[in-house]
Order: sequence, then structure tokens, then C-alpha cells
Amino acid sequence: MPKPASDYLVAQALDKSYHKGQHPVPVLRGVDVRINKGEFLSIVGQSGSGKSTLLHLLGLLDLPDLGRVMLQGSRIDDLPSATRDELRNRVFGFVFQFYHLLPELTLLENVLAPLMIRCSAMEYWRRRREFHDSASEMIEQVGLSHRVRHRPSELSGGEMQRAAIARALVGRPEVLLADEPTGNLDAHTGGEIMALLTKLNADQQLTIVMVTHDDSIAGQAERIVRLREGRLQSLDEAA
Ligand code: ADP
Ligand code: MG
Repeated sequence: MPKPASDYLVAQALDKSYHKGQHPVPVLRGVDVRINKGEFLSIVGQSGSGKSTLLHLLGLLDLPDLGRVMLQGSRIDDLPSATRDELRNRVFGFVFQFYHLLPELTLLENVLAPLMIRCSAMEYWRRRREFHDSASEMIEQVGLSHRVRHRPSELSGGEMQRAAIARALVGRPEVLLADEPTGNLDAHTGGEIMALLTKLNADQQLTIVMVTHDDSIAGQAERIVRLREGRLQSLDEAA
């Protein structure tokens, strides 16, 4: 059944350049994208095409030179930085190619970390049982309940990415932004991560925006757009 169009997260005319010495190197040149609540969108593009840059702008990890990012009709990229930080922590969860788990912490502690960072020591202590239950529930959802006491070095690549997904989701974000989440995994394990993302999208209506250079991975999402020469094209245009 088609999901209703809601324009939940929208980017309008995003421009972004990096500077090499005096010279600006344009990466995004007028990117428009509309993401509906509950949709699973993949953005495919070659290495260096600006996929990570775009994902960072959508999730307020970086700011555009021009253009705007809107959430539920309100502009969010021009908010004061403290408000942006608060919004980012509440609305977006991030998953990266290389997991970025903390090696000294167990799986459970890695998943608890965002909750720990979010509140005062006092509040954490008071809510520790609730937080522990949330973390355990997320770990169960990604199929790692038998690994809670393991450290990242004792986990496989696929397990580390599952752990990173649990960590991204423990604070109940509304949008998961995934940057090449299967990029460091073999095809079979990458397929399992895609199946997990697809299930989270289907069962919980989690909005997912994934970027990848891999057409076959991108093809597993509900909708694909291609980033080429600094702009987004729908796939029929790109053909
Ligand atoms: P992708 O994720 O598609 O591989 P990126 O968004 O990482 O692409 O990068 C797009 C282009 O911008 C690349 O040419 C990259 O070298 C350049 N770039 C990315 N980040 C920076 C930065 N912080 N400073 C300078 N150039 C950058
Ligand atoms: Mg990248």
C-alpha cells in the first residue's frame, strides 16, 4: 500500500563546497529531496559524489552554504546551535560504515552510551532500570542478546553493525541516517543488515535514509535516487 506523502524531511536547493586553499570545490549544487515519514530511501552515487556530505546536512551534522533543511515544515538548519544539537540528538540516529563503537565498552555499554550522554549523572542513576530495559530491548531487536557482555573486538563485522544500529535507535529517533552501512561487510552479511533495516522500516515505520555506492544494495530500499554531478536524479532520469 503506498504511504501517504507527508514531506517529513525536506532539503531545498542545497549547495555545499569545500575549500582547497583559495579554491572552492563544489560538491552539492542545488540538491532537492523530499522524504516521507516512514519511507526507506536510498541515495546511490559514486565514491566522492557527495553522499556523506548530503547525509550530514540532512542530519544537522554540518550546514549548507545555501539552501535549507526543513523538518515537518519548519526550517531547522538556521536554528541556534544548541537547539540544533538537541534536535539532532532527538530526531536522528546515525550509522556509519566503520561502526564507530567504543572498544573499551561492552556491547550493552555501547548501546547505553547515548542515553548516558544525554542526561545528568543523577538522572541517569534514577532512570537506570528504564535505560537498561530500552538498551536490552534494542539489542534483542537486532538479534544480539547473546552478545551483551562482549566487547567490539569479540564481535564479527555484521554483529558490530547490528550493535551500531541498536545504539543509533536506543534513543527512539524518528529518522535513521545510514552512511554505507554495508560498505565494510561481505555480500551475505550486508544482505542481513539490509534485511534488518527493511524489517525496522516495515515493522516500526522507521524512516530510513541510506547512502551507498552499491546499486544492488540501494535497490533493496523502497525508493532510490541518484546523486550525480552535485544533483539528485530519480532513477529513471539517471538511466
Ligand atoms: P561520498 O560520501 O559520496 O564518497 P563525500 O561527501 O565524502 O562523498 O565527499 C564529496 C567530495 O568532497 C569528495 O571529493 C571529498 O574529497 C570532498 N570532501 C569531503 N569532505 C571534505 C572536507 N571536510 N574537506 C575537503 N573536502 C572534502
Ligand atoms: Mg561517504
